[in-house]
Amino acid sequence: MANDGWVLGIESTAHTFSFGLVDPHGIPRPSFSGTLRPDKGGIHPREAADHHVNVASELLLSLMKKEQLSANDFCLIAYSQGPGMGPCLRTGAAVARSLSTHLKIPMVGVNHCVAHIEIGRQQCGSDDPILLYVSGGNTQVIARLDGRYRVLGETLDIGVGNMLDKFARNHGIPFPGGPVVEKNSNRWLEQNPNATLEGLELPYAVHGMDLAFSGLLTAATKMVADGSPLDSVCWSLQEHAFAACIEVAERALAHTGKREILLGGGVACNQRIREMSKLMCAQRGATSYVPEPKYCIDNGTMIALLGHLEFRQGRVTNLDFSGVDQEMRTDQTPITWP
Ligand code: AMP
Ligand code: MG
Repeated sequence: MANDGWVLGIESTAHTFSFGLVDPHGIPRPSFSGTLRPDKGGIHPREAADHHVNVASELLLSLMKKEQLSANDFCLIAYSQGPGMGPCLRTGAAVARSLSTHLKIPMVGVNHCVAHIEIGRQQCGSDDPILLYVSGGNTQVIARLDGRYRVLGETLDIGVGNMLDKFARNHGIPFPGGPVVEKNSNRWLEQNPNATLEGLELPYAVHGMDLAFSGLLTAATKMVADGSPLDSVCWSLQEHAFAACIEVAERALAHTGKREILLGGGVACNQRIREMSKLMCAQRGATSYVPEPKYCIDNGTMIALLGHLEFRQGRVTNLDFSGVDQEMRTDQTPITWP
């Protein structure tokens, strides 16, 4: 079933501001995005929000030009209503409200985490996966059960991406550090093809079905200070952190009887976590899916897709209820589509 127009999606939960589209049949089009990359330190929510305000109109105009669309082609504005950083979310919501009011079309506020799941399912043709959502701010193992995406396990402190970024920052590597940690790990393996973890052991991040990464961060930082080569610790850090995520995901497969893993979030761009997931799935006769990097990272297209799905269920967000929810939970959103 087609909507009578295009859905514009607005993503603004953290460092990335992004507009994306799905066409009237719900077919995604690539997003136009801008990402704040602070010279030093982490992301300051206020600075990120200012960045978003500055880039918004140019991104939207570029997207419309590329897709040869005019404002009349839109039937719905979808935006990330949560979870995320307050000032960033509020910028996206303000843009959504203005566009919706000005164009006299409805808007729908959507759950950012659910959007990661739905774009992954759509892109990979995955039906009923365990989602391993590994991003900067979030690390969750999620399954659809009884009409909701339920969080079966999650980080008790920081997200795995945030842990990698902080470790990198402790060693002078600017945000985002995750990709550099991956590059350093690969270099260590190239130079040490028979590398072992002996002498590079770090605390294990699994706590039942949950995870915790700050102990790992402290121990890895200390290991470098104590003289281990940075590249070797990057490698060990990836091995420990990703093995922990994969272990919880595997247990989720076992408990639920599901047969698919779907990776999502920026850390899912990492080749090693992809490989670990594939290996684990191969051993259990399951399948590991991962969308293209442009749909792993935060993007407006996934917000547009979820908006399209919600709209077809008759859901819209009235102005009075359009406020953001920094703490929105993955299982807050009823999942009523197939
Ligand atoms: P997100 O929060 O989903 O937008 O993703 C951003 C996070 O993904 C940051 O913490 C990045 O460091 C991390 N990230 C991106 N690419 C990689 C990679 N190749 N390996 C590890 N982490 C990555
Ligand atoms: Mg995200």
